[in-house]
Amino acid sequence: MTITLALSKGRIFDDSMPLLKAAGIEVLEDPEQSRKLILGTSRPDVRVVLVRASDVPTYVQYGGADLGVAGHDILLEHGGQGLYQPLDLGIARCRLSVAVRADFDYAAAVKQGSRIRVATKYTQCARDHFADKGVHVDLIKLYGSMELAPLTGLADAIVDLVSTGNTLKANGLVEVEQIMPISARLIVNQAALKLKREALRALIDAFEGATAARTLRAS
Ligand code: AMP
Repeated sequence: MTITLALSKGRIFDDSMPLLKAAGIEVLEDPEQSRKLILGTSRPDVRVVLVRASDVPTYVQYGGADLGVAGHDILLEHGGQGLYQPLDLGIARCRLSVAVRADFDYAAAVKQGSRIRVATKYTQCARDHFADKGVHVDLIKLYGSMELAPLTGLADAIVDLVSTGNTLKANGLVEVEQIMPISARLIVNQAALKLKREALRALIDAFEGATAARTLRAS
């Protein structure tokens, strides 16, 4: 019985490697050096599939992968239907924030009850956040380079992930509100959890042990 793990390239892939190692699994190829989308591992019964970050929940939901690692931001946008989410892995940490041009008075716009134009990839999270605060917004869906929107007049504000803050700074933007902290979670297909119970449980337990050990080391 093969187990398929869905990962996205970059931060999630890199931060997942120590967790896989703790579970006794080594990925045999470097995704940055190879064009392959299916990577073998040191365990003949475990393979990794590389998909776009926003497609990881979809692969796991429909059984294209048994389990995966996805950012909380991606899961909130997806809705999480059909997914068992047993573990916050504490990796790929960042925050979802509101940012504006340094010369835009966000607090005044909110206070006056003005309609604020907000560009974001995270329309669901943004809608919920501004509705909770009672702020009127027009949302503009973008798929990337959100920092450009306030600079070109497309929007007053953006909702985007912030890690070091360097990207905002480099584009003359300032963070005016933190919506929520974000980290990546383990997600599991619910049917697979029944059919491949033992193998998946062992993997989840190993990830859990490695996550707890890392938390202890950090404290
Ligand atoms: P930074 O300049 O370190 O604040 O990083 C901000 C840029 O990296 C933005 O374009 C974000 O969309 C992206 N980013 C930051 N953290 C993450 C993360 N954990 N997952 C995915 N994208 C991220």
